[in-house]
Amino acid sequence: MIPFLELRPTYEELKDEIDAAVARALASGTYILGPEVARFEEDFAAHVEAGACVGVANGLDALHLALRAVGVGPGDEVIVPAHTFIATWLAVLQAGARPVPVECRPDTFNIDVDAIAGAVTARTRAIVPVHLYGQPADLDPILAVARRHGLKVVEDAAQAQGARYRGRRIGGHGDAAAWSFYPGKNLGAFGDAGAVTTDDPAIADAVRTLRNYGSKERYYNERIGYNSRLDPVQAAILGVKLKHLDAWNDRRRAIARLYADRLDGIVRLPDTIADVEPVWHLFVIRHTRRDALRQHLADAGVGSLLHYPVACHMQEACRDLGFSPDAFPVARALADQVLSLPMGPHLSLADAATVADAVRAAVLAIGPDIGPR
Ligand SMILES: *Cc1c(COP(=O)(O)O)cnc(C)c1O
Repeated sequence: MIPFLELRPTYEELKDEIDAAVARALASGTYILGPEVARFEEDFAAHVEAGACVGVANGLDALHLALRAVGVGPGDEVIVPAHTFIATWLAVLQAGARPVPVECRPDTFNIDVDAIAGAVTARTRAIVPVHLYGQPADLDPILAVARRHGLKVVEDAAQAQGARYRGRRIGGHGDAAAWSFYPGKNLGAFGDAGAVTTDDPAIADAVRTLRNYGSKERYYNERIGYNSRLDPVQAAILGVKLKHLDAWNDRRRAIARLYADRLDGIVRLPDTIADVEPVWHLFVIRHTRRDALRQHLADAGVGSLLHYPVACHMQEACRDLGFSPDAFPVARALADQVLSLPMGPHLSLADAATVADAVRAAVLAIGPDIGPR
């Protein structure tokens, strides 16, 4: 049995270091913010080549507070990819604004940059590109549209810890980048955690205030804030794991190469654009008979997951936005056809080879990838 992802081996690999870091955090006597959080913020900002990092409670809050910090509010429109994890859209809604979806490219799964300008209106305030599955969105054209129309860019970097776009790490390309350290992410805590990185001291300052009741100085509240602080025990754990992130991402790349080599011509594989270094948070294949393929893999003892089987515009929670089911056919086709293969820093290449063989055998059994795309 090869599971989709196992989290325990990460702890087993680093047990002594992590136990020591947790003990240090517990012995510090400071259980909200404090030196553990400050140290991780500094280390993570350095790693992602951004001017500042502000730790928050989770990735959804990171997106929401970053949007607020760049000035998004009621009456605004925010451009989002049609195919993404629902949190991208929820953050916009929580900020009081309206998500305006733009279709994704069927080959890279990321937002179709050529379609963004056509979605800009007088109300548009920001664009949220998502670096989906660990591949950076094509940021230069996105930043160019933003500059031309005076828009902010808040990157949803939840799946892209360590990735590079044109040689520079994801983290400081746009006005702000929002991170999730949910346990299954490339850099994951042992609980919920998140952060915002930015090169703009005013945005960092705004997020720092918003995460702490809208207060910079005790007893004085300058904004309607939230309680969304990075937990110091999680910060201590993240600091240990950060040192291993690049090596873990190397293993993910080796697995992705193996899958790509062995599955070429068997299923539709993800495309990578020029001049980016993806970190393969997920390795996602497409097949028109996805559910049958998934069942065959399960019967062969190979786990898989769906990211994501219900398009955001078809979610019950988004009904009031008024989209017809046919509004975003690419997003809908992806929801029906994507399948995430086992991927992680502790998956062996031998197991990855077994997964690839199982996919080949399954496709032989169910037939080729045809039908509506
Ligand atoms: C995980 C994720 C989030 C949300 O992060 P949480 O920490 O789970 O709140 C947002 N966007 C994307 C693309 C994600 O994958």
